Amino acid sequence: MLTFIMKKEAVQAAAKEFLQFVNRGVSPYHVVDECRRRLLEAGFTELKETEQWDIKPASKYFVTRNFSSLIAFAVGGKYLPGNGFSMIGAHTDSPCLRVKPRSKRTKQGVLQVGVECYGGGIWNTWFDRDLTVAGRVMVKSGGQLVQRLVHVPRPLLRVPHLAIHLQRDVNDAFGPNKENHLVPILGTAVQEELETGSSSSGDTSSAANTADKHHPALVRVLCSELGIQPDSLLDFELCLADTQPAALGGVYEEFIFSPRLDNLHSCYCALQGLLESCCADSLTSDPNVRMITLFDNEEVGSESAQGAQSNLTELILSRLAASAHNPSAFQQAAPRSFMISADMAHAVHPNYTEKHEENHRPAFHKGPVIKFNSNQRYATTAVTACVVREVASRVGVPLQDVMVRNDSPCGTTIGPILAARLGVPVADIGAPQLAMHSIREMCCTSSVLQSTTLFKGFFELFPSIRNSLVVD
Ligand code: ZN
Repeated sequence: MLTFIMKKEAVQAAAKEFLQFVNRGVSPYHVVDECRRRLLEAGFTELKETEQWDIKPASKYFVTRNFSSLIAFAVGGKYLPGNGFSMIGAHTDSPCLRVKPRSKRTKQGVLQVGVECYGGGIWNTWFDRDLTVAGRVMVKSGGQLVQRLVHVPRPLLRVPHLAIHLQRDVNDAFGPNKENHLVPILGTAVQEELETGSSSSGDTSSAANTADKHHPALVRVLCSELGIQPDSLLDFELCLADTQPAALGGVYEEFIFSPRLDNLHSCYCALQGLLESCCADSLTSDPNVRMITLFDNEEVGSESAQGAQSNLTELILSRLAASAHNPSAFQQAAPRSFMISADMAHAVHPNYTEKHEENHRPAFHKGPVIKFNSNQRYATTAVTACVVREVASRVGVPLQDVMVRNDSPCGTTIGPILAARLGVPVADIGAPQLAMHSIREMCCTSSVLQSTTLFKGFFELFPSIRNSLVVD
């Protein structure tokens, strides 16, 4: 009984720490910023792609690209060029609404903000939520063009539903038009006149500078958060985000109710697994490089300078494998390496059980899910799955298997992309969740500790498990 209570305490503690992470990770830029903060605190050194690197064994580094993707690595004490890379990949972006470059709109005396749909969100969940903005702003400062992060902590925006009296069929079918019906309300012209003595028009066609492309009220809020004048505001990428913080839920507090579980859960567990693996002595005797790769733009296909399809991973691996004595070190390293592609999985939904293949129905608390798809929507093979199973059995984490029905669409993720680009064996896995791509998703508390334990174990155990693998 006592061990159960202690275990529940550890589970809750890990879940609560994750809540902090997800609450701070309001945009991909904030996710990278939070990872950067935690890495620096843990003694990692920041590297720049533009500089020459002097990489030492038993040392820890990270690099960011576009400030929305991040690769962190800890070099084993026994690492030599040509040895393998033990990698865990995930993505920093989530579906969301984003402020358009010319966002100012006024309709019926209502000040509104034009937004763009990013990724495949369940957009009707964005109605009737208390929304704010978060992201990065480019600021002109003393002759320099400087990136600043911004997160307005109070509810600024709202996309209200149309009352049921005006759409009697809303409970049978609700399909908002993504251009017309998702435009959030910022305020009213009448209140603006009372507050400021004048009201802005919705016309941006003659806007000469950035501040004029948006409602002055929105610009004022951003500028006061940043402590700048409107004329130094250059460009921005602003995500809309729910202001309601993530929370533990359910009668036994066994759930996490949260935005962006897909895929900040995996980002957090990958980071935590890496950090915890570096605390022990095992890094000193590791022949591999331990690495996490957190990419932006997965939700829109990964094809960008900072996405999983970019050359980022390859460039960094080849830098680390560069050797004057062994010109084929990088080519030798790829088949010795391994990547866990970590992205969330669908738990069985009790109200829609028929949507799930009858023998592949992942449940809460029963462990991370290995994803299979022979059509290569997932990159898992028998070889990569058995490596993950071996790690899991040694660290005492249960695993589940998933495969979609033949008559069902199947998601995909960065796993197949990186397998193809790098020629590295990949296993696609993820924690079970419900309501994927809703503004408010749901998973179980135990999945945080289970995934973190599995990932830590992978970093510590993969080199010896790889040595025991006989496939050729
Ligand atoms: Zn995802």
